[in-house]
Amino acid sequence: MDGYARSKIVCTIGPASRRPDILREMASGGMDVARVNLSHGSLDDHRNTIRAIKSLSTVAVLVDLPGPKIRLGELKEPVQLREGDAVKFTTENIRGEGLTLPINYAKLPAEVHPGGHIFINDGLIELDVIKVDGDFKGFEAKVVSGGEASSNKGVNAPGASLSIHPPTEQDLKGIEFGVQVGADWFAASFIRSKKDVETVKDAIKAVDGDQPVISKVEHGEAITNIDEIIDSSDGVMVARGDLGIEVPPWDIPLLQKKIIAKCYDAGKPVIVATQMLESMVENPRPTRAEASDVANAILDGADAVMLSEETAIGAHPVEAVRVMESISRVVEAGATLRRTQRPREGQPIPDIIGSLASQAVESVRPAAIFTVTRTGFTALMVSKYRPSTRILAVVREAKIARRIRLFWGVEPLDVQWSNDRDELIIRAVNKALRDGAVMESDTIMVVSGSTLEAPGRTSTLEILRVRDILYHAGRKD
Ligand code: PGA
Ligand code: MN
Repeated sequence: MDGYARSKIVCTIGPASRRPDILREMASGGMDVARVNLSHGSLDDHRNTIRAIKSLSTVAVLVDLPGPKIRLGELKEPVQLREGDAVKFTTENIRGEGLTLPINYAKLPAEVHPGGHIFINDGLIELDVIKVDGDFKGFEAKVVSGGEASSNKGVNAPGASLSIHPPTEQDLKGIEFGVQVGADWFAASFIRSKKDVETVKDAIKAVDGDQPVISKVEHGEAITNIDEIIDSSDGVMVARGDLGIEVPPWDIPLLQKKIIAKCYDAGKPVIVATQMLESMVENPRPTRAEASDVANAILDGADAVMLSEETAIGAHPVEAVRVMESISRVVEAGATLRRTQRPREGQPIPDIIGSLASQAVESVRPAAIFTVTRTGFTALMVSKYRPSTRILAVVREAKIARRIRLFWGVEPLDVQWSNDRDELIIRAVNKALRDGAVMESDTIMVVSGSTLEAPGRTSTLEILRVRDILYHAGRKD
């Protein structure tokens, strides 16, 4: 394989990385998608960040909606919780003091049960629920595993049957914001069912957005409903941060593999997220375990791997991207990636064409597969079957060029659109020649719709010689 990574890199942008010069270095280091996490920071800051990202060539903007995340309220000062301490959680709007901790979700007391577990601060502190107040305004819990609690820390209540679903009020504001600033993707946190996905999608449509939605799998119920969630979403994130609190951490490795396999077969892009290069928040080099974690996600078949604090608040954001890019490149070059099975009888035509293209690559050895794709769907169908050659996408709109940056192996090609398909392919090949992606002596493949069908289909696979295309182009004018 050539010297570039085909797995995609999603970088969370924050105080450590939102300067235009750093963003530029991250983009040339391998960032494909910039994630703007609305859980932190102000919308004004995010607007400026997104403007800076958009001035870069085709990096996609993913706006991440916070969802129904339970948090502590304000505390007068951080408090050290010790094993055996009896803590009082309250939904009253007070500032926390001592062992009385306010929470931001009024219904939590009614939805937890004695014997249930509560986690604070990324799962560091664990408590057992002892007793719920008669008026459901609070509950008592005993500390099982201590640590420091401070203002606004995240709270998880695995097993509680929460009645709050995404999109929350804050999500609706985030959707409006994202549509306004031209987000390319939305990610929705704490999705638990198909209905959650559909409500988020409806909210996007309601403000005239057409962004696709990545469902973050980070709740036990999402695992139960994984098939319908994948089916109704445009992509999935294995959000291991919260998922590893909602289920025990040792369940994560196999869940990750199962979710990736399902997305892979469904042809939906899947991102593996959180703590991938955690130690690089401080250090310029990753641990060996972290390098292996990134490699294994890629070998499992992930479309993309994600950086969170490493690039948002870390000391080495650019280096973290470069390290991730290097791991991807070396792993892809040295290992055989898992392939989606050939389509069975009766599968849709785009799958058959995508799969044929991938198989044909092994005998044709083309310099690239060109996909002509208005919506990005044809590029996705080719990507799904993981061909061992570049996938160059010719698109009409700049927003689609950015959107498809998330798809494994897909690279948008910057050419002026034409409704004349032959003309478009000639332009694309000329551009690829100028970029050095193909040579005159090469063979290429083209996957596209057919003029005999409605637009937006994937129905043809052509195997062409670059030299013949150029000759034909010369005769045309
Ligand atoms: P978050 O999502 O960073 O928004 O919490 C990712 C995760 O939970 O892993
Ligand atoms: Mn999360």
